[in-house]
Amino acid sequence: MEKKHSPGRILEPLLKDLGQDGRRAFQLPKTDLPAVAPETQIPSDWVRSKPAALPELSERDLVKHFMRLAHLNFSVETNFYPLGSCTMKYNPRVHEEIAGLSGFAQLHPYAPDSLSQGTLQLLFELERMLAEVLGMDAVTLQPAAGAHGEFTALLMARAYHEAQGRPRKKVVVTDSSHGTNPASAALCGFDVVEVKSNARGRVSLESLASVVDHDTAVFMMTNPNTLGLFEEEVMKVTQLVHDKGGLVYMDGANMNALLGQVRPGDMGFDMVHVNIHKTFSIPHGSGGPGGGPVGVKAHLKPFLPAPMVASGSAGYRLESPGPQSIGRVRSFFGNVGALVRAYAYIRSLGTDGLKQVSEGAILNANYLKELLRGIYPIAVDESCMHEFIASAKEMKASQGIKAMDIAKRLLDYGFYAPTICFPLIVEEALMIEPSETESRQTLESFADALAKIKHESEETPERLRTAPHRMPVSRLDEVQAAREPNLRW
Ligand SMILES: *Cc1c(COP(=O)(O)O)cnc(C)c1O
Repeated sequence: MEKKHSPGRILEPLLKDLGQDGRRAFQLPKTDLPAVAPETQIPSDWVRSKPAALPELSERDLVKHFMRLAHLNFSVETNFYPLGSCTMKYNPRVHEEIAGLSGFAQLHPYAPDSLSQGTLQLLFELERMLAEVLGMDAVTLQPAAGAHGEFTALLMARAYHEAQGRPRKKVVVTDSSHGTNPASAALCGFDVVEVKSNARGRVSLESLASVVDHDTAVFMMTNPNTLGLFEEEVMKVTQLVHDKGGLVYMDGANMNALLGQVRPGDMGFDMVHVNIHKTFSIPHGSGGPGGGPVGVKAHLKPFLPAPMVASGSAGYRLESPGPQSIGRVRSFFGNVGALVRAYAYIRSLGTDGLKQVSEGAILNANYLKELLRGIYPIAVDESCMHEFIASAKEMKASQGIKAMDIAKRLLDYGFYAPTICFPLIVEEALMIEPSETESRQTLESFADALAKIKHESEETPERLRTAPHRMPVSRLDEVQAAREPNLRW
């Protein structure tokens, strides 16, 4: 029954090919209700004349099939996953246990506050813990992801400027910013202006001064930036924007480098989002549920989305929106399952533990960068924060090998690929973020694989261009796969 894709490669058969008539998995007990003829309930031309041609399988068949498919996946559980900017760290199992407690997992979203006290207390405390970590005065937990957090913050910024009687049109972003920054600003109706980085990969104060004016609503900045570099002039940057009456937003996707070291609020930022699915150890991938809580300073508090959790003599409750609130941005309380995990992560590590996270992340990134020194060029080769950018530009110039070829070949060596071709300002970028949860041995074997690939680029470049060779499928036409997915196979 096994279908061949290319010589030597076996693909998992489809359920329809595995099915055998008459097989059954779990069976429900017999009903004691009278049988009802479908024709009496459904218009007759919608009633099937013969049973649907569905595959019939036993529970054993199904478990084998889905487990075999699951084993084809790369995951943070099974492989090193150095996906820059995304902080793919190990997620401790205890969080799953806690998120699975029935009081959290089975709470009905329409349950009254009086029956939701445990969850409301957790959300209330999480807001305050995040406010402390970020150096902010208040936090909303509603946004469902980082991009959603950006959008929420920009809605607040717009409402803030309007409330001052001075609506502003412009949002300034950096040329190394994540694509979500300009996208969120555009979606919010702002004009987007880009500011260039300087030769050291930082925001240039001169360029910034030339674009920030009295029509600038917000400057969005990532710190450490997407080159893994700390913006040393951040205090001057935030001052410069404030002097023009603008707000400064920090894209906090890289908080893994800052936990317990510095706080966005202390660097002058008015607003910040964190990706709890990156920094606070929530499993993520395939756009799965995460969270993008947003912290704000006191002057933006009236504009926060509603409802917020409040505590009073009668316990915890959801507060109705104030007159200036931007309203709801997410149904119910946000992605509570993810928020419970973030709470567990912070509580189990404590203040010292969070500090160790960022120290470990920075140490691991710098160690790996040193291992690769001399093998791959490093963009802006200074001490880095939690990630750094290597480049395939030399291999491209000499052998035509691109970052994509390296990423594909790494799969053969058992490693997930780093982020490639981002940030856009580095040619053939390989954005590598090891995270604090990986061992020295893992970093060394990854560096080893990259060194072997460099060697292969000189000896067997053709083999690199056609990699991967040990995966269930080899090089795919990704554009075609996205536009005309072949789901029949
Ligand atoms: C991941 C990321 C985002 C977007 O966050 P999502 O949670 O994926 O929406 C924004 N900026 C940076 C720098 C990121 O790495």
